[in-house]
Amino acid sequence: MVADSYDAVVVGAGGDGPVAAWKLAEVGLSVLILEAGPFHGNEKWPNPHEEPGGEASSSVEDLSGDLLDEQFTTREFEMINNLVFGPADHERGFWFRKFPGDGAILQCAGVGGTTLHYTGCHPRAYPASIDEQGHWPIDYADLIPYYKEVEAMCEVTPAPVTAKEQLFFRGAEAAGWELIEDLNVTEAGYRPQPNAIRQPDPKLHVDEGYAGDFTYPDVEGDTLALGNIAGNPHPRGAPFEEKAKRASNVSFVPPALETGNVTVRPNAFVTDVTTETALGDSPTVTGVEFRDTWSGTTETVDAEVVILAAGAIETPRLWLNSDLPANDWVGRGLTIHFGDNIMGLWDADDLTEPLGKETIDQHEGQDIAARFDYPGVGMLQTIGTAPGIGAILGFGASASGFAFQNDPAEAPWDTMGRLRGAELKRLLSDYRRMLQVLVVTDDRPHKRNGISVAPGIADEHGPIPIVNYEPSEGDRRRRDELAEIAAEILREAGASHVHRSDSPPTALHVHSTMRMGQVVDEACEAYDVDRLFVADHSALANGVGGANPTNTGQALAARTADEINKRYFQ
Ligand SMILES: Cc1cc2nc3c(=O)[nH]c(=O)nc-3n(C[C@H](O)[C@H](O)[C@H](O)COP(=O)(O)OP(=O)(O)OC[C@H]3O[C@@H](n4cnc5c(N)ncnc54)[C@H](O)[C@@H]3O)c2cc1C
Repeated sequence: MVADSYDAVVVGAGGDGPVAAWKLAEVGLSVLILEAGPFHGNEKWPNPHEEPGGEASSSVEDLSGDLLDEQFTTREFEMINNLVFGPADHERGFWFRKFPGDGAILQCAGVGGTTLHYTGCHPRAYPASIDEQGHWPIDYADLIPYYKEVEAMCEVTPAPVTAKEQLFFRGAEAAGWELIEDLNVTEAGYRPQPNAIRQPDPKLHVDEGYAGDFTYPDVEGDTLALGNIAGNPHPRGAPFEEKAKRASNVSFVPPALETGNVTVRPNAFVTDVTTETALGDSPTVTGVEFRDTWSGTTETVDAEVVILAAGAIETPRLWLNSDLPANDWVGRGLTIHFGDNIMGLWDADDLTEPLGKETIDQHEGQDIAARFDYPGVGMLQTIGTAPGIGAILGFGASASGFAFQNDPAEAPWDTMGRLRGAELKRLLSDYRRMLQVLVVTDDRPHKRNGISVAPGIADEHGPIPIVNYEPSEGDRRRRDELAEIAAEILREAGASHVHRSDSPPTALHVHSTMRMGQVVDEACEAYDVDRLFVADHSALANGVGGANPTNTGQALAARTADEINKRYFQ
């Protein structure tokens, strides 16, 4: 049940919203989280896609690992369908968002938000992206205590090394790069991924010859079975809070509920931010209006502060649809880490010496467990996928058309573009000897990139976000540089064939559409609306240099909660 008023209302229970909610609840404030999607693993709502869930509970006692196992199957495509960005009632289809070209926006609705999909990579921002790029009103040092707090909650540790990581490190070292040992990365180099995924049980080590069934409590921690993009409910049988992947539903929601000060209301799509304005003053927030996605009924709730945490596409959309003051930068400055995919293929004989076997087996280990950092340019990371997703990412979409249309004679790759027919079959049949490297560019905020809304293009919650994204020459140059480094690392590791996808822009990491210093101040309070805060990736002032953004988004949300408390409740 939702009360009439709260100290704070948080819009969105994704990566960052629960962090702010937990921090505010810890100091005794009453907090309501309104989440548009379902609440999985909640015993008071066992069939979230079949019935409304009016009784969904905000008691930590009702969170069940067994129920999560039942709902989060290990069948990849079925799970991806379960996690679509749309209402819990899947009969109604997903929420369409317009993205240019062949790309898409990857986001997820539900308690945990897009961290239900994420692969748990939890590095910090590059210090230079905050201190040297001139976009931020705060220093990197301001975030360090909050990084430490978030990393402890998410149990961040260096990812375990399996064959695919071993091969990547070998290539990076042979290409002349150094191993990075500091969490605050200032020089280029390679390292195990700092992951918010529990370490595997030591008995899974290859020398131990484990022959059990990988379920809890026989196995505690990660089972090394990939599947993070599809939710990863491992180890099976573990209590809710003991699941290995520390998505925000596992890492921050339970401690927030334990305070007894937090109510989570799923199925609640916020459609309006309400304000009042005294003569001659800027508006002050008074609460929000939300719509129940099953019944269609609307409710309002009052709050001392409202915290927007609906993600970098939906937060500006909500602002624009709420008739709040015009600000040129609302929705603008979108960064997406303009990505690409470089695939390496090995001959069996060339793997025996480095790996002691004839296959790489990218399906073993954590999805993304090795990385290469290049402050000022971006980063690379290996990615293990099932063949279907690997084929789509690596060979299925390209801004360069089909491979036969491109002549890579002068390029460091053998083929570029979409593959089809015999060539696609040949490469995919060698899937177990393939390693995929994801290019993640430090793309910079440009005002032309971002979201707008148009009155005629609407869904049941108002005008939908229409996204524009066109990388600059500098963004393209940095991406090309990273693609060339990836190709060199793969060759040095012994790859006999290197393929560049030249992927079209896709919004995998989405940030900086309500930027600190432009839309919100150094405490993440809106310049134009008092008591309205932003605590999601949209408040990031840029794309944090290309590092995976969630650690920084969560650290900033934790800091914002402290600032809210100082400004309005002390
Ligand atoms: C496949 C995949 C892998 C990824 N891997 C990583 C990784 O390894 N490391 C990393 O750092 N990042 C990763 N990311 C990105 C990461 O998941 C996101 O950057 C992060 O979740 C963003 O957090 P957020 O709070 O800004 O938004 P979200 O997590 O998207 O949360 C927003 C929430 O708000 C809700 N919402 C939206 N509109 C409304 C509304 N009007 N009213 C109420 N609720 C609303 C949504 O349903 C959602 O739950 C990955 C993303 C994908 C798709």
